[in-house]
Amino acid sequence: VFALVDGNNFYVSCERVFRPDLRGKPVVVLSNNDGCAIARSNEAKALGIAMGAPWYQIRHWVHDAALVALSANFALYGDMSDRLMGLVAQWGPQQEVYSIDECFMDLRGVPGDLRASAQALRRHVGQCLGIPCCIGIGATKTLAKLANHVAKTAERTPGVYPPELAQVCHWQALPEPLQHRILEATPASAVWGVGRRLRKQLAAAGLHTALDLARADPVWVRHLGSVMLERTVRELQGTACIAVEDAPAARQGITYTRSFGRTVTALGHLQNALAVFATHATQRLRQQGSVAGQVWVGIRTSVFRNTPQHHRSVVIPLRRPSDDTTVTVQATRDALAVLYQPGVPYAKAGVILLDLQPRSHGQGELALQDDAAPDRRALMQVLDQLNQRYGSGTVQLGSGFSMPGQRPWAMKQAYRSPGYTTCWADIPTAHA
Ligand SMILES: [Mg+2]
Repeated sequence: VFALVDGNNFYVSCERVFRPDLRGKPVVVLSNNDGCAIARSNEAKALGIAMGAPWYQIRHWVHDAALVALSANFALYGDMSDRLMGLVAQWGPQQEVYSIDECFMDLRGVPGDLRASAQALRRHVGQCLGIPCCIGIGATKTLAKLANHVAKTAERTPGVYPPELAQVCHWQALPEPLQHRILEATPASAVWGVGRRLRKQLAAAGLHTALDLARADPVWVRHLGSVMLERTVRELQGTACIAVEDAPAARQGITYTRSFGRTVTALGHLQNALAVFATHATQRLRQQGSVAGQVWVGIRTSVFRNTPQHHRSVVIPLRRPSDDTTVTVQATRDALAVLYQPGVPYAKAGVILLDLQPRSHGQGELALQDDAAPDRRALMQVLDQLNQRYGSGTVQLGSGFSMPGQRPWAMKQAYRSPGYTTCWADIPTAHA
């Protein structure tokens, strides 16, 4: 038996924990540089604000409907996500964190009425964290995901599914005729793993609803899509084909790419930005226990401007695979020496750490006397610990440092909430 636990309108819900005044009001969270809506409260959805709607197209709602817009505060969402996953993990023996606000649970061997324990978990999360969530339970991951879709939709959009399935839906506990009615009311593209990409192909083959898919012959369906689609059909029919994965596979490359808040022409500013980007990426590299053999560095002008396009990148091989921030930052400097052209209005830059391997692989290597790099492992460890404890950027390399107001490349985040759970200075005060 599997479950999918999903935080409702997660980014908005995180903000509301510390801003109870935002409950019941239309709220959107804006992407980096306050570009477009990436999370919407139910009230904002009701205004017709679409996912990804550009800010300039929806900002009139601030006047017209008291819409509140917030800049994305990823430090807050990441921390709240850790807390959510920690609470949910206590439910069963195995957990797969699927995204920032979703996890699968393998509930094998969990005793008692699962619907009741799911409801208890919702209350527990609500009490400890203040985040509302929806839970779907099913015999396969695909059915758990479908049950979660039913639980969410029944809460948000009355009339599609029976109201008693809101918040928690246990697929196996439903009578068969009701399962059929639900499958019939669900478009095939809403099934996990199908998506919009396959919708046309499926429609051409006469498969419109989830019920059509569940009744299809898995082997026949393989010819329509792929082995993946066959797996989806079998999972809809109740045969578990996809296991819960404890540890997601280590990433093949670690990317840190950002658009600048304003265009940048000075070499010093670019060096500064790339040092900060490389610092973030390398910290993630250490977190997953890998070293990188190559560093990709790219800089470019804005594709939205009517200026000559300048778009260049280079891969810098490292002398030996490393997880040392001083090494990757130096690589970005070497790259800029090749890429940079004076006078060009740069709008975006990125660092990708490539050729990743487990740190343990490189340990046996002997350093030749003349290229002996100092071992900074202890220094990096202290750096990570200080930044984790006192907040990101507390201690950094000099090349990543800039005086306040000297970061034209920094993101525009005009409406960002405080670091309630990640910054000592921002911890909320309770008045009794
Ligand atoms: Mg969600």
